Amino acid sequence: MARQRISMLFFLLVMPLAVSCAAARDTAGAEVARPRVTAVQIGAPAPCTVETEESSATCWSKVTPGVPVSGSLSFELLASPQRPGIELFDDCGGSFQSNGTLIDGNAGRADFEWTPPKRSPTVCALTAIVANHDVASQFTVVIRVDEPTVSEAFDLGALRVAEYRWGKRAAASYTFDDGCASSFQIADIFESVGFRATFFIIAGWVLDANWPRWKGLADRGHEIGNHSLTHLDLASPDLTDDQLTMQIDGAQQRIERNIGERPTTFAFPGNSASPRSAAIALRSHLATRNPGLPFGSGFGVFHLNSRTTSDALNAGLEDALAAGSWFVVAGHGIDGNGWEPLSSEVLVTHLTTAASLSSALWVDTFRNVARYRLAREQVQPIIIAASQQTLRVRLDGNPDASLLAVPLTLEVPIVQPPAAVRAHDASGAEVPIVVAPGAILVEVLPLQEIELEILPSGA
Ligand SMILES: [Zn+2]
Repeated sequence: MARQRISMLFFLLVMPLAVSCAAARDTAGAEVARPRVTAVQIGAPAPCTVETEESSATCWSKVTPGVPVSGSLSFELLASPQRPGIELFDDCGGSFQSNGTLIDGNAGRADFEWTPPKRSPTVCALTAIVANHDVASQFTVVIRVDEPTVSEAFDLGALRVAEYRWGKRAAASYTFDDGCASSFQIADIFESVGFRATFFIIAGWVLDANWPRWKGLADRGHEIGNHSLTHLDLASPDLTDDQLTMQIDGAQQRIERNIGERPTTFAFPGNSASPRSAAIALRSHLATRNPGLPFGSGFGVFHLNSRTTSDALNAGLEDALAAGSWFVVAGHGIDGNGWEPLSSEVLVTHLTTAASLSSALWVDTFRNVARYRLAREQVQPIIIAASQQTLRVRLDGNPDASLLAVPLTLEVPIVQPPAAVRAHDASGAEVPIVVAPGAILVEVLPLQEIELEILPSGA
């Protein structure tokens, strides 16, 4: 990087190289003493005093990258006073602005403003050249560029768990009911854009020979959710509590037995629920795909049919992004298979759009978004300790045991950006962070701690 310098030349030309000769002569050939820098001050209230005529000293001033500080350079002109030339530059790419030079007899002072670069090395060498009678002195001050402390860098009163994972603006989940034969093509389409879907299957209708295929989808990251044992109307007053329990919990156990993982979300057949069947479902499941159960708001279900267009789906997604809500799509099969099947072309077109929005949109299974939202409601970040360089935060609360493994995104708002931050979990292992506009994002499990450490710039 080119050195940025400001020259405060008045009458004399600066000769930057004329610094190391033991003797110097003026233009008439007379021996003259060099100007001497006597004190330097950068930012900090206490000047860095020059005690010898050596050409360098270390001045540990606290400056913040990118933030202008005022400074001054005091000097003595040991030859007969003439207006001196002063030049300042640093080796780290900062910039200087002159605030004027005062001369009083043999003593002088140059005032300036120095802006350290936004990303600086930990130490920065500031060089001053003062020339008088064609004789120059060079003086180097080494300045430490301090990082902001934790309390200066972050808004510690505004720590929060992000609404959606990694601070995304909205979420989308795609669910397909009844375990249609085309579910497996649907899964392939989702995987082709890097997404996973939710399949609510009717546990009593799955042939024994087909369970390995559903287990295969679960193993690939898709969600196998519960859509009851035999697809009865669970709002019907004719069903006893025991019958409802068999339809809901019996199906859950059957799915768990066959795929080795207990389904934690439930979709009512025909979306038909009563307070009684909802209560039974929520006893054994984290969430149901019915708005209000247990999510009161920010959750709408978009029902697919054979006439649904990709434009309509895209518009629903845009609305969710604008509102910061959770876009939940409910359908069955594709391409002529299942109730009101969607065309695969519409699905592919829409998912391509969704994938292009991935910087703002979190696409994940119904279960994963539901448990993030539930866990988020059950914890809050508390500061365990904050020192100059480190911040320890814990997600405190009384979360359900089933939510302890759900990674939540902690948002640490940035006031003054530090050059580098590292995060460690409670075991000391480094964990990844994302520096988003205005905040540092890091994942933390409920009831676990995270430590953020500001690293010295240049590290
Ligand atoms: Zn159904």
